[in-house]
Amino acid sequence: MTYTKLVFELSSPGRVGYQLAETGITKTNQPSLDASLFRQEPASLPEVSELDIVRHYTKVSQKNIGIESGFYPLGSCTMKYNPKINDEMASLDGFKLIHPTQPLETIQPLLKIYYDMANMLNEVTGMGGTSLNTFAGAHGELVGLMIMKSYHEARGDHQRTKVVIPDSAHGTNPASAMMLGYETITIKSKNGMVDVDALKQVLNHQVAGIMLTNPNTVGLFEKDILTIAKLVHDVGGLLYYDGANLNPLLGLARPGDMGFDIMHMNLHKTFSTPHGGGGPGSGPVSVAKHLVPYLPKPVVVKDNNQYRFDYPSTSCGQVGGFYGNFLVVIRAYSYIRTVAQDLMNVGPNAVLNANYIQASLKDLYKLVADQPCMHEFVMNGLIDQTSGLKTLDIAKRCLDFGIHAPTIYFPLLFDQSIMVEPTEVESKETLDEFIKIFRQIAQEASTTPDVVKTAPHHTPVGRLDEVSAARTPVLHYQALTKIKEN
Ligand SMILES: *Cc1c(COP(=O)(O)O)cnc(C)c1O
Repeated sequence: MTYTKLVFELSSPGRVGYQLAETGITKTNQPSLDASLFRQEPASLPEVSELDIVRHYTKVSQKNIGIESGFYPLGSCTMKYNPKINDEMASLDGFKLIHPTQPLETIQPLLKIYYDMANMLNEVTGMGGTSLNTFAGAHGELVGLMIMKSYHEARGDHQRTKVVIPDSAHGTNPASAMMLGYETITIKSKNGMVDVDALKQVLNHQVAGIMLTNPNTVGLFEKDILTIAKLVHDVGGLLYYDGANLNPLLGLARPGDMGFDIMHMNLHKTFSTPHGGGGPGSGPVSVAKHLVPYLPKPVVVKDNNQYRFDYPSTSCGQVGGFYGNFLVVIRAYSYIRTVAQDLMNVGPNAVLNANYIQASLKDLYKLVADQPCMHEFVMNGLIDQTSGLKTLDIAKRCLDFGIHAPTIYFPLLFDQSIMVEPTEVESKETLDEFIKIFRQIAQEASTTPDVVKTAPHHTPVGRLDEVSAARTPVLHYQALTKIKEN
């Protein structure tokens, strides 16, 4: 690929790429503004023709890697295809043009969608109630822990200041607990799973709860989950389930049946809504029956076939401006309704795809647990270490083959982690291509290791100095001043 000029470098004085209609606003009917507020000189905007700007942004977009340009096997992330019908539904005028303060009788169908969606998620999770008011996975965690706190406090149980979290947990778990003032107790994993004996030693009446995910972040199913649930409940604690990546469970098992009391899901992972780029997310929170009174307000209730908002006094509080990211909820609702018949196959196919890749690479890459995985698995670098190639080199080499690298150096339990999550939407051909690439990289490690060490070779820029890029980033274009001078 060649260097793409910045739009400022394409600029030529007097070129115009747009036409504006007459506004009818004249100097005399303008609102009177303080003269000091007016621009003293024109803004330094690039001047380009319409064709040039279209070409420019098309070129820039082609440098972007996304789920729609290639395989995106990031583990603990569920980068999943966003079916176009979701966007079509979300852009219907009846959804897109509503205002959050519209009278309730004019938004009955929308409230029905919230009501039905919550019920569908209750069914999927085996829980008793769901709130759609949260804006992200981490937000769901925070609100889930607020519910945990409200529950203990409502019972006058004020001594519970600690939350137990395994060392394999997603980084947001301890961060969310800290935000609520909880002290976190980390328990070490044993063979990638919760060490039940270590858990027993930290459980007491100061423990508000435990945060777990199952399958855990190593991609293994915590088979002792019923024992763990009993141990935590016996000391009066609650179980929080991090369901960001719930797809491996769909059709196979439900957190509610495992003994979990509170959980969140990421609609932007499990339920196919767009993910990444800081775009709008949604992290619904589901709770067991006895915790329903503590869900955030407002909640949608139905009486006499009419839907309305309710503001229960027991609620843990209002957690956003209005009612969450409504159009994201619409997309996920559309996804569930579209795949309804097939929803039971989501989990099994996600698990099958991950196991297929794992089994096809285990003679060349070190598995951290040589046993069947769930929706993702972790390799700890190459088995043959003579080349000295690191996980970073392998990830950079992936880019030369046009695929996004897997998650690397997470989980932190292993020093060369490569974490792969194909999801259920990928075809066997795509999985085979990925396997071929990873086998070729392992081959290159013994024949031409320098090619891997200096990768990537076919991307717009080669290997970057990542430390400088993070510590001293150059975030503005110097030539701006040059344009001004002209
Ligand atoms: C992605 C993820 C989160 C956080 O979700 P955000 O929407 O990014 O805040 C939490 N836990 C796990 C396991 C995740 O994969």
